[in-house]
Amino acid sequence: MFGLKKHHVKKEKHAICYEILDAMKKTGCPICNILRSLEEETIKYMLYGQVNDPAVRRKLRESLGLCPYHAWLLADIVRGNPEIDLLGPSIIYEDMLRTYLEEKKDVGECFLCSKTREFEKIYVEEMASCISIDENMLEEYRKSRSILCRRHYEMLLENLDERLAEKLKTIQREKLDRIMHNLAEYIRKQDYRVKEQPTYDEARAWLDAIIFLKGERVSTNIYNYGKTPPRKRQRRGRLFSL
Ligand SMILES: [Zn+2]
Ligand SMILES: [Zn+2]
Repeated sequence: MFGLKKHHVKKEKHAICYEILDAMKKTGCPICNILRSLEEETIKYMLYGQVNDPAVRRKLRESLGLCPYHAWLLADIVRGNPEIDLLGPSIIYEDMLRTYLEEKKDVGECFLCSKTREFEKIYVEEMASCISIDENMLEEYRKSRSILCRRHYEMLLENLDERLAEKLKTIQREKLDRIMHNLAEYIRKQDYRVKEQPTYDEARAWLDAIIFLKGERVSTNIYNYGKTPPRKRQRRGRLFSL
């Protein structure tokens, strides 16, 4: 992302299509999963090579060290990768704390959030164009275990022509019906009179329902993107002038 610069975005069209097809092989939402790995790549890149990069540091200071979601993702990455030196996060957050103490500045937007938002738009548009070039991608999606989260499903629909959008709607409906069926089967098999064991897909159907309705964890941050902030209370004067 930040460290990957533009060339990553401009990679060959078919390379992005393959990346999306690859993400479909896993469970969960393919777009969410790609965004999540881009975030992780960026954080690792930052910790490995950009700890003392003045431009990166300036961006970090704007949000006093990322938003809570990305700061904790950074912490998880550091804790999960013993080869990452603790010196990097110590230098970064010493600077963030000093910035707070010396400047008491307002916390601005986290640059990883805005990058994720840009990448989200790019990948959804690319996925739509991959489908338009080769409809087979929809068939691959139908056969796969992956499920587009509601947010990315709706974004993708907006980017497809009417015919392809209808096709996607049918496939998504089939997938949601299957999740409903798996949930019902799991619940049914809990009855002591039923001897059958729940299948793997039935046991994880509740998770698929969360993924569809709420997106993957990355969506906890992007969920409110593009929504207008709550309106301020109207001034008293205007109420009477209506
Ligand atoms: Zn998603
Ligand atoms: Zn963030």
